[in-house]
Amino acid sequence: KEGFVAINTMGNITTYDDIGGLSDVIQRVREMIELPLKHPELFQRVNIDPPKGVLLHGPPGTGKTLLARAVSQEANATFITINGPEIMSKFYGASEERLRKIFKEAETKAPSIIFIDELDSIAPKRENVSGEVERRVVAQLLALLDGLKGRGRIIVIGATNRINSIDEALRRPGRFDREIELQVPDADGRKEILQIHTRGMPLDDTVDLDEYARLSHGFVGADLMAVAREGAMSSLRKILPKIDLDKPIPTEILDNLVINDDDFQNA
Ligand code: ATP
Repeated sequence: KEGFVAINTMGNITTYDDIGGLSDVIQRVREMIELPLKHPELFQRVNIDPPKGVLLHGPPGTGKTLLARAVSQEANATFITINGPEIMSKFYGASEERLRKIFKEAETKAPSIIFIDELDSIAPKRENVSGEVERRVVAQLLALLDGLKGRGRIIVIGATNRINSIDEALRRPGRFDREIELQVPDADGRKEILQIHTRGMPLDDTVDLDEYARLSHGFVGADLMAVAREGAMSSLRKILPKIDLDKPIPTEILDNLVINDDDFQNA
C-alpha cells in the first residue's frame, strides 16, 4: 500500500443500507456502475459502451465517498482511492507515473473502481492551471481514460463539490460523461440518516428522530453523523462521575446506560 492508494482497507464494510436519503441516487448508481461491473456482457449484447467515468457531485459531506465505497463492495470490485490534492502535492513531479500505476493495477485487479476524490484539484479548467506539471497531469488522466479497455470492468468515479470548475475536456463523451448529483437531504432523508447513525444505540423513548430531522434543516450526512455521535458522548459524560476509570464498569451501570433527548439537545 503506497501513500494515497487504499485497496479494500476500509476496515468496515459499507453497503447501500448505510446510506440515507439517497434512494434515487442509489438506483442510478446501480444501473450506471454496478451493472456494467457485474455484467459487462449485457452491454456487449445491446452494443452500447458502458460508462468509463462517472462524476459524483454535490456539497461536502453528502455521501459521495460513502456511495463509491458501497457500490464497490456491492459489486465485489477492487476499490482504489486517489486523493486529488495529495497526488498533486505529495507526489509532485511523480504524479503522472502514479496515475499510470494505479490504472495498471485497476486493470490487473478488475473489476475495479478508481475513486478520485476532489477531482477538481487534479483537473481544474486548464486556463486556471498555472504550471506545466498540472497541465501534464490532466493530459495523462485524459490519455488513461481514453486508453481504458475494461469494457465496463473498470469504472472511474470522480467526486467534486465544484463540478463547474472541472476541465471540460474531461467531461466529453467516453470520459466523465455521466453525472450524478447528491443534494443536501430533506427532512425525510435526514431522518433516514439519523436512523442509520443511531442504529444499535440504546435510545430511550424521549428521543424523537422525526423532530431532530425537522429541526436540522441544512444539515448533511456528515453533520447528522456528528449529532448522533455527540448524543452518545453526552450520555457517557453523564455517567463519568459515577465510575472509577481504573475498575471494570459495573454491569448495572452498563445495563442502565441510555441516550435520551437531553443528550441530543446537548449535541
Ligand atoms: P467530501 O466532499 O467532504 O469528501 P463526501 O460527500 O464524500 O464529502 P462522505 O465522506 O461520504 O461525504 O461523508 C462523510 C460521512 O458522513 C460518511 O462517512 C457518513 O458517516 C456520513 N454521511 C454522509 N452522507 C451520508 C448519507 N447520505 N447517509 C448516511 N451517512 C452519511
